[in-house]
Amino acid sequence: MDTIAAVATALGESGIGIIRLSGDKAIEVVSKIFRHKKGKNLKELKSHKMYYGNIIDENLKLVDEVLVSIMKKPHTYTREDVVEINCHGGRQAIMNILELILKDSENVRIAEPGEFTKRAFLNGRIDLAQAESVIDIIRSQTDSSLRMSMGQLEGRLSHKIEAINEKLLDIQAEIAVDVDYPEYEDEQKTSINSENALIDVKKEINDLLKSAKTGRIIKEGIKTVIVGRPNVGKSSLLNMLLGEERAIVTEIPGTTRDTVEEQLNLGGIPLHIIDTAGIREADDPIEKIGVERSKKALSSADLILLVLDSSQELNEDDTALLNSIPKDRSIAVLNKTDLNPKININEMETSIPVVLVSALKSEGVDKLEEVVKERFVSGDFDVVNDVIVSNVRHITLLREANNLLDQALETIGMSLPIDLINIDIENCRQKLGQIVGKSVEEDLLNHIFNNFCLGK
Ligand code: GDP
Repeated sequence: MDTIAAVATALGESGIGIIRLSGDKAIEVVSKIFRHKKGKNLKELKSHKMYYGNIIDENLKLVDEVLVSIMKKPHTYTREDVVEINCHGGRQAIMNILELILKDSENVRIAEPGEFTKRAFLNGRIDLAQAESVIDIIRSQTDSSLRMSMGQLEGRLSHKIEAINEKLLDIQAEIAVDVDYPEYEDEQKTSINSENALIDVKKEINDLLKSAKTGRIIKEGIKTVIVGRPNVGKSSLLNMLLGEERAIVTEIPGTTRDTVEEQLNLGGIPLHIIDTAGIREADDPIEKIGVERSKKALSSADLILLVLDSSQELNEDDTALLNSIPKDRSIAVLNKTDLNPKININEMETSIPVVLVSALKSEGVDKLEEVVKERFVSGDFDVVNDVIVSNVRHITLLREANNLLDQALETIGMSLPIDLINIDIENCRQKLGQIVGKSVEEDLLNHIFNNFCLGK
C-alpha cells in the first residue's frame, strides 16, 4: 500500500500541529527532511520514542523546530509504520511541512479522508463497527455520546454480534447433523431446538434494535422546536437552558438565511434546537405557525416545547397553539412561575405533560429534564455498560437479520423440512457479519470512510 500523509490536527491557531504518515516509506520520507539534534538518522532510532530536531528544506533552510515520533509496525494505529511530526500550530507552519513531505511524490501521497482508520480496518486491527465509532468519537458533542462511541470502539457491539453469530452457527451445526445422519437424529427434536434458539436470538436482536432509539437520541440529539406567542419567554427559556448547562456547543448557521440551530445538553441528552432565529426575533407565532417553514419544523421535530405565560390567562393564541401541536411529542412549559399564577394546571384541558419553570430565576430545569427523559429515553440507559446501537447502517442490517429470522421461524411453523431454514440462517449471519465488516463491498467502505475528517 502507498505511504500516506495528512495533517491530523485542526488547522487553526494552536500550540502544536501534527502531521501523520503511515506506510513502508514513512520513516524514509521523514528522515530526508529531519535533522536530529544529536545527529542520528531517523531510520536508526528506536521505535515508539520521540526525537527532537529540525525540519529543513531542500536548500537546507530551517522550516520548523519539531518533535518526531516513530512507531514501527505492527503496534501502531494503522498496523503500518507510522511517523508523527509535532510542529508549531498554525496553518502556515503545518502546511509548509506537509508540502515539503509531498514533494517526495514517488514515495508518499496525501491521504484520503479516513484513510488511516480504513487501514486499521483493512489490516485487521479493528473491525468495521469499531472503525465507524472513531468518527462518532470525534463528532461527539456530549459526554453520553462520547461514552457510547467509546464502548463501540472497545468492541462491545462487535462482541455481541459475534456471540449471536456463534449461536446461529450452533443451530446450523445441529441441522447439518440431522440431515447427514437422519438415523441418529430426531427431526422433531432438532426442529424444537432450532425454534427455541431462533427465538432467543431474535430477542437479542430486538433488544439491540430497541436500544437504537436511545442511541439515535444520544448521538444526534432530540430535534426540538420552541413555540409560543410573543413575550411568553421563549428566548429566556432557551437562554436558561443554554446557560444552565454551560454547554453552547455549536451555533450552526442553518441552510436558510434566517434559520439558526443550537445544540444544548439537558442532563446528558443533547437537544438540537431548530430555528432559534425565529424564537429570537419573537415574531408573531400564530402567523409563523401558519407558514410552511414552521409547519415543517413542527412536523419534523421530535420534541415541541410550547411556552405559556403562567402569569396571564390562556388566550386564544395559546389555545390555538395547544390544539395544533402533536400531543405525543409536546411538552407545555408554564413559564414565569415567580409571578402570580393565572393559569391553573388542573384546569388546562390538555393531555400533554406540563412543566413549571421560571426562566428568569432558572427554576424548573430538573423537572423538564425528567419529563424529556421519560418521553424519549427507553428505560434507564447505561452508556458505559450497555450495548447501544446508534448507526443507521447497523440498524438497517439488524432489521434485515430480524426479518430473516422471522422467515425461518415461519418455515418451522409450517413443519417443512428443517434444513430449509438453513439458507435464512446463513443470510442472517451474513447480514450481522456486515456490521463488523465481514464481506462488505469496496463501495460501501469508501462511502463510510469518506465521511471521516482528513488525517484520521
Ligand atoms: P419571547 O418573546 O417569547 O422570546 O419572550 P422573552 O424571552 O423575550 O421574554 C419576554 C419578557 O418576559 C422579558 O421581559 C423577560 O424578561 C420576561 N420573562 C421571561 N421569563 C420570565 C420569567 O420566568 N419570569 C418573569 N417574571 N419574567 C420573565
